[in-house]
Amino acid sequence: MSDDNHDNASPSPASGGDFIREIIDEDLASGKHSGTVTRFPPEPNGYLHIGHAKSICLNFGIAGEYGGRCHLRLDDTNPAKEDQEYVDSIQEDVRWLGFDWGEHCYFSSDYFDQLHDWAVHLINTGKAYVDDQTPEEIRKNRGNLTEPGVESPFRERSPEENLAQFEKMRAGEFADGEKVLRAKIDMAHANLNLRDPVLYRVLHASHHRTGDKWCIYPMYDFTHGQSDAIEHITHSLCTLEFENHRPLYDWFLDNLPVPSRPRQIEFARLKLNYTVISKRKLLTLVEEGHVNGWDDPRMPTLSGLRRRGYPAEAIRDFCATIGITKFNSTNDIALLENAVREVLNRDATRRMAVIDPLKVVITNYPEDQVEEMDAVNHPGDESAGIRKVPFCRELYIEREDFFEAPPKKFFRLAPGREVRFRAAYWLKCNEVIKDDAGQITELRCTYDPETRGGKNPPDGRKVKGTIHWVSARHAIDAEVRLYDRLFDHQNPDSRKRNYLDHLNPDSLDVRQDCKLEPALADAAPGEPIQFERLGYFCVDADSTPDAPVFNRTVALRDSWSRRQQ
Ligand code: ATP
Ligand code: MG
Repeated sequence: MSDDNHDNASPSPASGGDFIREIIDEDLASGKHSGTVTRFPPEPNGYLHIGHAKSICLNFGIAGEYGGRCHLRLDDTNPAKEDQEYVDSIQEDVRWLGFDWGEHCYFSSDYFDQLHDWAVHLINTGKAYVDDQTPEEIRKNRGNLTEPGVESPFRERSPEENLAQFEKMRAGEFADGEKVLRAKIDMAHANLNLRDPVLYRVLHASHHRTGDKWCIYPMYDFTHGQSDAIEHITHSLCTLEFENHRPLYDWFLDNLPVPSRPRQIEFARLKLNYTVISKRKLLTLVEEGHVNGWDDPRMPTLSGLRRRGYPAEAIRDFCATIGITKFNSTNDIALLENAVREVLNRDATRRMAVIDPLKVVITNYPEDQVEEMDAVNHPGDESAGIRKVPFCRELYIEREDFFEAPPKKFFRLAPGREVRFRAAYWLKCNEVIKDDAGQITELRCTYDPETRGGKNPPDGRKVKGTIHWVSARHAIDAEVRLYDRLFDHQNPDSRKRNYLDHLNPDSLDVRQDCKLEPALADAAPGEPIQFERLGYFCVDADSTPDAPVFNRTVALRDSWSRRQQ
């Protein structure tokens, strides 16, 4: 992007400019605006999801890059569905993502008085009327894309009569749905949003902030642009489905004495495969018990991803990678998972844990001996140091690291085979013990004292495999929760498919009696940890010192694409 003619503008964003940042650059260069004010306007009717993260990163990102500010606006015009719980979670999630609205947290409901005055203004200027048609009649008379609408028989009421009617609506003299206030624009307009849209409806519902003060509530379209104007928003960024609403957004700004003139710009919403991103559908998953709450680690909510162990930085990186365009497309969830791996590979402390334990007894190791083996905490970061891992006669290894009749290219433990135990010794398997059912219960091995620390023995012998292990005597018992995709179809929610029919029955795999190395007793909530060879993990919110619970955030590699073949 060329910045030659932007000498007087605020600094341009370092992260390559998308079309929205280009518009902002132009507005600053031309002097139309001297700074940027954006907003993130969630409705507090559910928890934020990964799609919201795209909008948060865009709006707060622009504020940061241009030295402007971004408001958090709770868009609370529908009291029936909104709740303080959602307001709290939204604030927590935006902060967690790494953004700060400072003093600028607002509520659309703060503007109810002003919006009411503006409705009266439209009535007085002959641009709004009270309509007594039933909701069905209004819908029917709206027409469609090929047919013009039919004007309401109440459309020509005088301003005086409209004012009196509207005042009665406000005073609670009508039941829900009995009357509405509509803008008087054009019932034959090609854009259906301009066919006398509803501005106010009667709704006898208690609001989470204004209580019972109001029994009429403004519609989204009559609220959003005016709220932007009140807050002196310069660029009002929203998703493409509002493109058709822009003429109405502008109509209100043109016909009301608003204090500023924001500009609405639309971009493509985030869509991810193997998931659904819609608060309504996520609410259904919660209410019908398909998941264990909004913060279930399988949910694409920010609280779910956080509990799963996704770092906020990875979500921001993902949003930067996919960028901002005007074209609807679906992103591969593997891209998000890779962003997570990248951050965790850099940050996670390495530890050993066994989630499907098989006992190993070292027959030539002294019964009471314990050695403290040195293990590195992070192979790419020497400053992370080393820790001591106890080693003794009885260990646990991963059941899948042993094969009685190993296939080709299986280089781990097998009868007569020697492998390296990470940070410890080389062990050779000499005997396989089974129970009456033929299930392997124990392996008898010998160790080579000359391989301490995993180093090669003097006789030049080689091993091909290295496996992880945990001392049986010192292990901590824990529950480990492994997650898979919540849906088993890449597009679970389409015209042809109902997402509830495509829930993956194996999305949660709870393993009890897993064995952890003792250092994991100190794992802190939120701390990223790699269980060597198994993936990245974190302490779950259900964890207690007596009954630790770990979540797998993501496996080390993407095994899904291979499984699909
Ligand atoms: P949902 O469809 O999940 O209910 P919404 O658009 O109704 O989402 P809001 O709370 O109104 O949810 O959204 C707040 C802001 O987040 C809006 O500006 C909206 O455009 C944006 N947003 C919501 N979903 C996405 C998404 N998938 N991608 C990008 N931005 C989104
Ligand atoms: Mg919405």
